Amino acid sequence: MERHLLSKSTFIRSNQCLKSLYLNKKRPFLRDKLSPQQRAKFQRGHKIGELAQQLFPGGIDMRPKSPSQYQKRVLEVKHLIDTNSQNIIYEASFQYDQLLAILDILVKVGDEWIAYEVKSSLGIYDTYILDSAFQYYIITNSGINLKDFKLIHIDPDYEFEGQPEIGKLFKEVSVLDEVLKLQDYIKEQSLRAKETLKLEKSPNIEPGEQCTNPYPCDFIGHCWKKYPPEERPQIEYKNEDFYNFLNKIK
Ligand code: SF4
Repeated sequence: MERHLLSKSTFIRSNQCLKSLYLNKKRPFLRDKLSPQQRAKFQRGHKIGELAQQLFPGGIDMRPKSPSQYQKRVLEVKHLIDTNSQNIIYEASFQYDQLLAILDILVKVGDEWIAYEVKSSLGIYDTYILDSAFQYYIITNSGINLKDFKLIHIDPDYEFEGQPEIGKLFKEVSVLDEVLKLQDYIKEQSLRAKETLKLEKSPNIEPGEQCTNPYPCDFIGHCWKKYPPEERPQIEYKNEDFYNFLNKIK
């Protein structure tokens, strides 16, 4: 199987700015250093993902141990599904048309599959719908019929001290209707992104509002260097209450 060109994170990056996609792939040395806040955010997301697996106990963890394992894992997950040997798969990899999806949790109910993505947030944002649509596009085009696509996020109304009850900590929300409406867009944007990666030079895109929306881009230092410091985007880390909430989870 050929190596993928786009994953969920690089697709979302392409949607924010095609230049960011290009630089990330071809000029990674220009990237800004990860701030401590960003590093902590990634670690928290990982912890929440593992907690949410407890909602569906007894599954098999197919997380690729390294990027070199991605395509091997795609074939192994396909084998598990084709042979009916697992009803719950964590970190299930799929590939279609050089696009890679690694789904947090895949669950078989009767003869049908339901996809779950876990978000370490207190609600649902547009970007989550978009990345779910990207995953749905790949999973269904690779031959799996999905009955539903759900997001799992932290219930903002649940109050606890110490160790939370897993069943009360999370909320499930179906985003299938929204995801279905975005399928043509996913196809078009994936094509645009793949064409961008074939360019000899980075696309000529001026820095602007896209540099911090929806995420602070990690090429701000490079793209904004000709602008005086007072004109460069100021990156704010909001949601301190939310981070405090997450930190209560041991
Ligand atoms: S800093 Fe702005 S213009 Fe530069 S790659 Fe990032 S989003 Fe694009």
